[in-house]
Amino acid sequence: MRRTKIVATIGPASSDRETLTRMIEAGLDVARLNFSHGDRELHAENARRIREAAGAVGRQVAILQDLPGPKIRIGALDEDIAELKPGERLVLCCGSTAVGNERRMSVSWDGLADGVDRDDVIYLADGAIRLRVTSVRAQDGEIETAVEVGGSVASRQGLNIPGSTRGLNSVAEEDLEMLHFGESIGVDLVALSFVRSADDVTSVRRHTRLPLIAKMEKPQAVDAAEEIIRAADCVMVARGDLGIELPIEDVPMVQKELLRVAGRLARPSITATQMLDSMVNSTRPTRAEATDVANAILDGTDAVMLSQETAIGQYPVESVAMMASIAERTERGLPYREWNEHRVRRDARDPAYTVAYSACAAAHDLHLAALVVPTLSGRSARLISAHRPHVPIYALSPGKETVRRCGLMWGVQAASMRRHEVTEALIADAARRVVELGWVEPGARVGITAGLPSGNPGTTSLLQVQRV
Ligand code: PEP
Repeated sequence: MRRTKIVATIGPASSDRETLTRMIEAGLDVARLNFSHGDRELHAENARRIREAAGAVGRQVAILQDLPGPKIRIGALDEDIAELKPGERLVLCCGSTAVGNERRMSVSWDGLADGVDRDDVIYLADGAIRLRVTSVRAQDGEIETAVEVGGSVASRQGLNIPGSTRGLNSVAEEDLEMLHFGESIGVDLVALSFVRSADDVTSVRRHTRLPLIAKMEKPQAVDAAEEIIRAADCVMVARGDLGIELPIEDVPMVQKELLRVAGRLARPSITATQMLDSMVNSTRPTRAEATDVANAILDGTDAVMLSQETAIGQYPVESVAMMASIAERTERGLPYREWNEHRVRRDARDPAYTVAYSACAAAHDLHLAALVVPTLSGRSARLISAHRPHVPIYALSPGKETVRRCGLMWGVQAASMRRHEVTEALIADAARRVVELGWVEPGARVGITAGLPSGNPGTTSLLQVQRV
């Protein structure tokens, strides 16, 4: 059984029922709907197809709604493309909707002219084009720039100003509307783009009960990583924008540090962007890409993510299958014992951490076949997962949403079970259920965790070792 989870972005290359089915069969755990692209109807239709395909295959697939956040974009361009040459002048017109060209382009954020200064650097086309601000006419909302590194840019592509975004709203009204729409179509997880502080996360939490993923793609977010990750339910190392906002050579060590902090705080993590990029056009990844996926797993990521590879690439199913193979092979060499001792900072006030740690130690010492985790909110499964046991974690929950949310947690396979008020009945039913599901052989020895009093979330305080 593979432990590392696979997130794949659904797009034109992967939204038909057959491709979705084959991707789920190949190992897709979480389907990402990128709300920076596509209209609501399309996302609703994709969510419906994902549920249908998952039902047909008989696997749980969680749906992740990725909100655009305060992403700044250029507007439409004449013929949808502009070729910028080094040394040329380009004027950015803030808040305008006029169709642009090589000399003038509109920009989605009307406050940009107040947010930049002369000599600031602005990137277009995923960081490929570099502009230098030569003058700002704030009253006209115009920024004059010189092209330092040229290239071609397409309509509505992103615009990055490393670091500086003073005055830019963190959580746009539009994002909250999209979030409520996501709830209405039954998404399971929500990712917040361009988070800059823990407040950006807590301000969204007031509007939803869905688990929130903080996308780390701004230098300010890296500086405030500990508070942001603590405020969020999960974290994404969003290397696409991170690699523009920070010097690209900083990305590997920032990834390692963010994944280390996520592990210490027992928060599930996703490593994203260009993991198997050459598979957009090729049936095989490069050696460097295969190694990148393996290294993210060795860094402790819970999930690895596919973007263009599955959204617009030629080989969406093969990309998922390739990730699954790399993950399975890499997992044979993980430092399980060491992770159980040192990965998570255990909270001395909360017995659930010690139960999680002890369950994983017992799995080693007693050669258990699996850990069985009845869980209401998914928290117990998350804490055990964070300790990285070498045996499967079988989460059982009366909550359908909890079952799906476990899709992002490393090593966790989840299914439904009845709700119980009495601990003995809960343990007996959990033992029966994992055999019934075909997950554990009858007679095998497992560790089962439970809470006293049972039925309340966050009260896990018991580990029982027994044969099922
Ligand atoms: C990223 O920047 O790496 C990322 C995952 O975000 P997006 O695809 O929304 O740009």
